[in-house]
Amino acid sequence: MYKTDVCILGAGPGGATAALHLAKKGASCLLVDKAVFPRDKVCGDALSGKVVNELRRISPELPALFSHQREQLPSWGIHFISPGGQKLSVPFKYNYKPEQDAPAGYISKRLDFDNFLVDQVKQHPEITLLESMDITKYERQQGGGFILSGKNGDQQIETRLLIVANGAQSGFTRHIAGLQQEPEHYCAGLRAYYKGVQDLDADNFIELHFFKDFLPGYFWVFPLPGGFANVGVGMLSSAISSKKLNLKKEMLRMIATHPELQRRFNGAELVGDIKGYGLPLGSKKRSLSGDSYMLVGDAGALIDPFTGEGVSNAMISGCWAAAQAILCLEQQDFSAAFMQAYDKAVYNRLWKELKLSRQMQKLLNYPWLFNQVASKATKNQALAETISCMFNDIDLREKLKQPSFYFKLLFN
Ligand SMILES: Cc1cc2nc3c(=O)[nH]c(=O)nc-3n(C[C@H](O)[C@H](O)[C@H](O)COP(=O)(O)OP(=O)(O)OC[C@H]3O[C@@H](n4cnc5c(N)ncnc54)[C@H](O)[C@@H]3O)c2cc1C
Repeated sequence: MYKTDVCILGAGPGGATAALHLAKKGASCLLVDKAVFPRDKVCGDALSGKVVNELRRISPELPALFSHQREQLPSWGIHFISPGGQKLSVPFKYNYKPEQDAPAGYISKRLDFDNFLVDQVKQHPEITLLESMDITKYERQQGGGFILSGKNGDQQIETRLLIVANGAQSGFTRHIAGLQQEPEHYCAGLRAYYKGVQDLDADNFIELHFFKDFLPGYFWVFPLPGGFANVGVGMLSSAISSKKLNLKKEMLRMIATHPELQRRFNGAELVGDIKGYGLPLGSKKRSLSGDSYMLVGDAGALIDPFTGEGVSNAMISGCWAAAQAILCLEQQDFSAAFMQAYDKAVYNRLWKELKLSRQMQKLLNYPWLFNQVASKATKNQALAETISCMFNDIDLREKLKQPSFYFKLLFN
């Protein structure tokens, strides 16, 4: 039996970040994962500028340390391919200079990125990392806190506070916190690794393709080191059910039949299996805490509904969970009422962004409008610049919500 004040369940980006922030404050914790690192995680492997910021918040030297890893590619922007076939290229930073600017984002297999974080964890004596421990039972203790155990009741952990960061399929989220998967706020995704896809961008722009016959879903191609590409699809679960789609068939169909993809994938090799996983979207506010627990990252459904980005939000919530845990320890208060400050902090930071992305997600229901934006922006420098800035400045994204933006766009 392990006994601890703070146990973090899951050592993905959310859990590892929480543990590292606790260690920074001198607080010890148990960090438990069912896997042994390095381990794979189904993901697009794109790490935005927000991830770089969160690395910096953990420790100022981490972004540079990560940029010197061999297993990553700096990425300078996004190509959006509209349903009408126009390509809108949006650099993350306007007038970027790859030879002198620090990259605004990266693409790195999660096998490597998550292991990079776990390597940092292993350097902190305050963190006890327990791998290969599959926690399936959560028993509330009389005096507060939980007793956690595996399937056979073995490997027990007694904890005063539980930070739940065990991802999209968290049993705790469903059975104890009572949050259900809602098809309107849940996306299904598939990921494959291909070698030899042709014409990947020289500056490693990631590609998001919005095909007419696959809306409101999207298809992506993200370049990776070593001539690999992360290729995948994502779509709202409600749309998959109503259209009765088989995502894997759809993905292979698009590769085989869309002329441009057909050409670029000709001779490319699928490496490993096509794997699927869920994306709990943050398009709706949920209760993220209760007596003696906080939900972090995917376990709290914090994925951006438009971009599908969840690594940064997992790290942001992990950071706030650590701050709240320190307060709980100082004041010896683990009550649901006290924990509310965590929900507030997370949504103060993320809600505006998540709400806006929800609006943009709805744009996918209006392909003609999407086509107009893409077509105008390819010809209009100022508009392209505005969209580029939107990726760095959330307030600019507000413009997309205003009808006047579209009016000017369509009639100027
Ligand atoms: C197809 C797809 C594409 C995506 N693309 C992107 C992208 O390009 N960029 C981006 O930012 N986000 C992307 N996301 C979202 C991103 O993967 C998640 O938001 C992110 O992994 C959340 O981190 P986390 O720490 O909350 O959970 P996870 O990364 O899922 O980590 C959870 C950890 O908990 C452990 N665990 C699970 N159950 C147990 C248990 N019972 N006992 C002990 N340990 C347990 C797991 O082994 C794992 O290590 C994508 C997701 C999918 C499915």
